[in-house]
Amino acid sequence: MEAFFSQQGEKSFRASQMLKWIHQLGVIDYESMTNLGKNLRARLSENTTIGLPEIIHAQHSSDGTRKWLLRLADGNSIETVFIPEEDRGTLCISSQVGCSLNCTFCSTARQGYNRNLSAGEIIAQLWIANRELAAFGQSQRVITNVVLMGMGEPLLNFDNVISALHLMLEDHAYGLSKRRVTLSTAGLVPGIDRLREVCDVSLAVSLHAPDDELRDQLVPLNKKYPIRELMAACKRYVANQPRRKITFEYVMLSGINDTPRHANKLLRLLEHVPSKVNLIPFNHFPGSELRSSSGAVIDVFRDILIAGGLMTMTRKTRGDDIDAACGQLVGNFQDRTSRSHRMQKVVQGPRP
Ligand code: SAH
Repeated sequence: MEAFFSQQGEKSFRASQMLKWIHQLGVIDYESMTNLGKNLRARLSENTTIGLPEIIHAQHSSDGTRKWLLRLADGNSIETVFIPEEDRGTLCISSQVGCSLNCTFCSTARQGYNRNLSAGEIIAQLWIANRELAAFGQSQRVITNVVLMGMGEPLLNFDNVISALHLMLEDHAYGLSKRRVTLSTAGLVPGIDRLREVCDVSLAVSLHAPDDELRDQLVPLNKKYPIRELMAACKRYVANQPRRKITFEYVMLSGINDTPRHANKLLRLLEHVPSKVNLIPFNHFPGSELRSSSGAVIDVFRDILIAGGLMTMTRKTRGDDIDAACGQLVGNFQDRTSRSHRMQKVVQGPRP
């Protein structure tokens, strides 16, 4: 933004003025940006636009969770979810249109992949949620936390995700602390290392299995970056920062990864990694033959981890009545891979 204004022959402080108008006050109409000066406002109106995705569907869950389907300029659409809790408000945002990874238990995967989101399309999700929640200009924050846990693999859209993260943390924009911004990855090892160097927000890793044999099946990316390498990257991420931990996400799949044997193996795996574990009851979606572990099975699993000294929580399922829960975000877009088509055949079976 500073470079842009200096190209216009303007002082660099215009950048922070602009960021404040857009991201703190929610103003995107140049004429209302009164401290910019008449001439500059006229030039901006002539030469630039501030574009926004359009809300094409808004849903409100009985538990207060809200989901927006946003149409992008190219006609694709993505989903964004707001999850209110007593002590915080979390916005779950997407980083790609679809996802190119093919995790067996995720419905975004079934939709296939179209493209990366631009930095603008990523930060626009935060802007739109703030507008819808009437949060701009409020003295108390409504959105206190952001998680990159929507559609897509954020580390495969590295540069745009980093630009958006910087705006989330920037004092003149959203001013969130990096503890309250979490990037979740399926385990892209080189991306984890780069992230540590440029913007070390909180890291969540979708682990889901305690050994390579099982993880290869659930998270195919594991064949490229097996558990040993992933754990080493996680350790590097929090090295020399005694209070930081990696959050490991573990979706509870009945009869697949949920036995006491898996729990004990997980304990051993995470023994030397500063970690906490989030157990996620599997959220069902049409066409999936997978089932969630029962509450009782999840409790046993959790108690084994806790007894072993691992900080463990079961993630409360939120917004599942509006398909807004983990792994249920699908958007609406044209698949550029043949996966959604293949999947449909699998689901429907061969034609008679
Ligand atoms: N690609 C990134 C970001 C997505 S985060 C990643 O894999 O981490 C979404 C989280 O929800 C991930 O932990 C994912 O594994 C989990 N998830 C996906 N499908 C799910 C489902 N059907 N039920 C519960 N959790 C699911």
